Amino acid sequence: MASTNRRQLLQGTAAAAALLPGATFAAGDGAAPPLFDVPGVSIPIRDSGRSFPVRRIYCIGRNYAAHALERGSNPDREPPFFFHKPTDAIQLVRKDEVLAHPYPPLTQNYHHEIELVAALHKGGRDLRPEDALACVYGYAVGLDMTRRDLQNAMAAEKKPWEIGKSFDHSAVIGPIWPASASGHFTKGAIELAVNGKLRQSSDLSKMIWSVAEQVSRLSQSGELFPGDIIYSGTPENVGPVVPGDVMTGRIEGLYTIVVKVV
Ligand code: MN
Repeated sequence: MASTNRRQLLQGTAAAAALLPGATFAAGDGAAPPLFDVPGVSIPIRDSGRSFPVRRIYCIGRNYAAHALERGSNPDREPPFFFHKPTDAIQLVRKDEVLAHPYPPLTQNYHHEIELVAALHKGGRDLRPEDALACVYGYAVGLDMTRRDLQNAMAAEKKPWEIGKSFDHSAVIGPIWPASASGHFTKGAIELAVNGKLRQSSDLSKMIWSVAEQVSRLSQSGELFPGDIIYSGTPENVGPVVPGDVMTGRIEGLYTIVVKVV
């Protein structure tokens, strides 16, 4: 794109953002050209030739009872809690690809968490659960990769455990399947195998808070926007991987993802 066109496009975006009620992102002044371009992050949409641009990554914690218990909390009493990963932590797994996933620095206990990811094409505030699924464009298989030793050490000191969750490549994700074709995912097998051996195996129906309830809750704490995605929690039997391990993540009805730790 010619620079003039790019500038006009950016100005148009900034002007639109300024007019958009409830827009909370900084749009710039629309006149000064940026010092450099920061690449956007997007995820391919299955069979469409289009991609899904990502605004924010939300993740829910302890959303399956058996995983809440293995993490030391009471699954009956806890309200849902959420954390973020940076948008550029996305690492995309294409169909039929074995993705090379780098073992991150600073950890000696690097864990897999297989999760259903919901991708929003509409937002809002104070959405009711019965209205929330209308905001969900589609779904993908994801891995909420976790430096468990760092997470646990920070939690023990009552410090934010961000360093355990938010780092490069920590948000692994497959292509998005539109709900218009696949329906909404409220039940079905969710599994992760390492080197062909099943480690995590559960059913989406065992989520404590459904995707609709997660969207509703999140919209109470802040406005949701198109492009927001939600990692909806992992079932029990999270565990370590080391370089050379191959993770196979499967959710019934979506593409299986294959990820090799290198
Ligand atoms: Mn998780």
